[in-house]
Amino acid sequence: MPIRFFSNRLSRVLMLAMVALLAGCATGGMRINTDHSARGQDSRIRYIVVHYTAGESARALQVLTMGEVSAHYLIDNNASATIYQLVDESRRAWHAGESEWEGRNSLNASSIGIELVNRGFQDTPQGRVWYPFPQSQIDALIVLLKDIKQRQGIDGVNILGHSDVAPQRKLDPGPLFPWKQLADAGVIPWPPQALVDHRLSQLGGVVPPVSWFQEQLARIGYTIEQTGEFDEQTKNVIAAFQMRYRQSLYDGQPDLETAAWLMSLPAPR
Ligand SMILES: [Zn+2]
Repeated sequence: MPIRFFSNRLSRVLMLAMVALLAGCATGGMRINTDHSARGQDSRIRYIVVHYTAGESARALQVLTMGEVSAHYLIDNNASATIYQLVDESRRAWHAGESEWEGRNSLNASSIGIELVNRGFQDTPQGRVWYPFPQSQIDALIVLLKDIKQRQGIDGVNILGHSDVAPQRKLDPGPLFPWKQLADAGVIPWPPQALVDHRLSQLGGVVPPVSWFQEQLARIGYTIEQTGEFDEQTKNVIAAFQMRYRQSLYDGQPDLETAAWLMSLPAPR
């Protein structure tokens, strides 16, 4: 019977494999020749995702090392801006959760996660108050980003906020995170103000329809349903975009200035 024959063969093969494995163990394992290296290869890491911890450092360190979430790096908000490495870059950290960019999902597999110790925000009777990032922490982040970019060959356009890759559930790193400083340091691309002004004048005071905003946001990498309606999901994605590029107002409304910024950004490479 062919099936029986196959299973006999299979068990023999398995037995031989086990013997080989044991023999291998006894003799120091298999030999791999590494004399040749392929030109056709690159890093498995395509993105860097920036977060805030929404809590203080002792708690963050505990959660990120003992809990179900983790990150490759944690940067303290103390005076010396200590950088902790919690997960090796070659391994996956659990920081992005359900996430998507440029149609690629589950970004934990293809990204490095960096957490910044920061309390996030507090809702007060006067409105929502966000906590600023100390300059020493941002300086440390810039050095780290430059280092990772160079080693992993990551394009600056692929340095993202958690709110970019999960705009329906996340706000971090928030509207006080200084993206422009990262641009000034040469870490991420940024359109020149003159270009944004030019695009603004091209619009001639007419706000494009919601469907246009949805198309543009998808074009630059955001995940957004093309409903043609100004719905909750669209508002959340516009707000995420504004928190990065137009931090003075991030109400999620499709306005002229937001349109001008969108027109000034290239598609991801
Ligand atoms: Zn996050």
